[in-house]
Amino acid sequence: MARYIGPVCKLCRREGEKLYLKGERCFTPKCAIERRAYPPGQHGHDSQFRRGRASDYSLQLREKQKVRRIYGILERQFRRYYAEALRRPGMTGGNLLGILESRLDNVVYRLGFADSRAQARQLVQHGHFVVNGRRTTIPSMLLRPDDEVSVREESRRRGYFQDIRELLANRPAIPEWLGLDINTLTGRVVRAPERSDIDLPVNEQLIVEYYSR
Ligand code: SF4
Repeated sequence: MARYIGPVCKLCRREGEKLYLKGERCFTPKCAIERRAYPPGQHGHDSQFRRGRASDYSLQLREKQKVRRIYGILERQFRRYYAEALRRPGMTGGNLLGILESRLDNVVYRLGFADSRAQARQLVQHGHFVVNGRRTTIPSMLLRPDDEVSVREESRRRGYFQDIRELLANRPAIPEWLGLDINTLTGRVVRAPERSDIDLPVNEQLIVEYYSR
């Protein structure tokens, strides 16, 4: 599956807020938002002084782009997720976020095995995880309640995974819809994620409005 391969800090600067796309670097003074808190491009610095009131369309577009960028998903795939969210019962915006959270790369990130979704995606693509006992290299795989994700036996001998328990101790708390057995390096989807489990500063209703135009 294709992915964005350009400079990621530009994405945060375009949205005007930290999207935490680069792991630990995002918490240091090296963060581009700390150093250049204006949109990228030749006129980015001037544009922050010229901006008037944003239109409804602009607000909806920016919210959609923000979520897409947080999860590292291109437009076509994002539209497919939106269509699936529409089909499901309940609130479309919440369904959409639930689907995005259920992706394997996001679950690996939420379990603390990676410090960013981009790193999680790479670890999955390199075959370091098994889902329900089967090796998988598909970051977009959607997990369901009772699915189990664990570090592959062969990968545990690698340098990165040998130190993983220390890393896990310093990573953010695991959300309630997931469980982790640190001894066996196995995570489990306890239940489907709810909107209240998802700690993103996102107004998903704007995304629904964007696609309902
Ligand atoms: Fe965004 Fe992280 Fe880059 Fe800061 S360091 S601009 S939060 S990706």
